[in-house]
Amino acid sequence: AISFGKLNKYYGDHHALRDVSLDVEYGETLVICGPSGSGKSTLIRCVNGLETYADGSLSVLGHAVGDDERELEAVRKRVGMVFQNFNLFPHLTILENCVLPQIRGIGRARAEASEVAMAQLSRMQVGEHAEKFPDQISGGQKQRVALARSLSLNPDIMLFDEPTSALDPEMIAEVLDVMQELTRGNMTIICVTHEMGFARAVADKVILMADGAIVEQGDPEQMFTAPKHPITQDFMKAVK
Ligand code: ATP
Ligand code: MG
Repeated sequence: AISFGKLNKYYGDHHALRDVSLDVEYGETLVICGPSGSGKSTLIRCVNGLETYADGSLSVLGHAVGDDERELEAVRKRVGMVFQNFNLFPHLTILENCVLPQIRGIGRARAEASEVAMAQLSRMQVGEHAEKFPDQISGGQKQRVALARSLSLNPDIMLFDEPTSALDPEMIAEVLDVMQELTRGNMTIICVTHEMGFARAVADKVILMADGAIVEQGDPEQMFTAPKHPITQDFMKAVK
């Protein structure tokens, strides 16, 4: 579904992604680990063209992600993203936050958009808050609304960039639970997270990044219990 080939990215003099080659298959869940500044966010932001790159190749759902705006648009329609901060519109109800992007983004009629939004809000277990405003619900609930909003657009790929790292500890599990449910479906998921228990439970594949490069990739069992690279060994010790 996603294929990086020897991709390089620079911010000025800083070499942010170094010869990154990576394949994510359809329906697979990939977890990205690594220390702060290692390029995790930069890597996933390339997938929907939020970052450009200097050289190498990137193909998403059969589309070349690069300079061609039409290809980029096709990719963006099929890729959803959830960040640390939920970015809900404060002046719109929870329901409206999920309805408007469907009307504006994919031209859905309001009645259908409402139906889809309610179904996704229920699936994320926040259906009863549909008529409230964002400042009337908790952080964990807001993040589940952000998930529902994204899912309402029927993405084939979801990108998660530390979706629980801004949450109070007691709210982390309720967000991880609904994310875990998503990983069981046939969506392709890339998730940056420091929640190692979650990573181990849901990942089909884990990569460890350091200083812009993928230093090791493997299945979760191997990566968490028998990492081969010294950097991975140190990282896994540090996060335990
Ligand atoms: P964290 O765990 O802290 O989120 P990360 O692994 O996601 O870190 P990135 O945000 O991808 O790391 O950043 C990789 C490197 O690129 C860092 O050294 C960062 O300072 C640098 N960087 C990121 N964005 C920019 C930017 N817009 N301009 C210049 N440098 C940047
Ligand atoms: Mg980051």
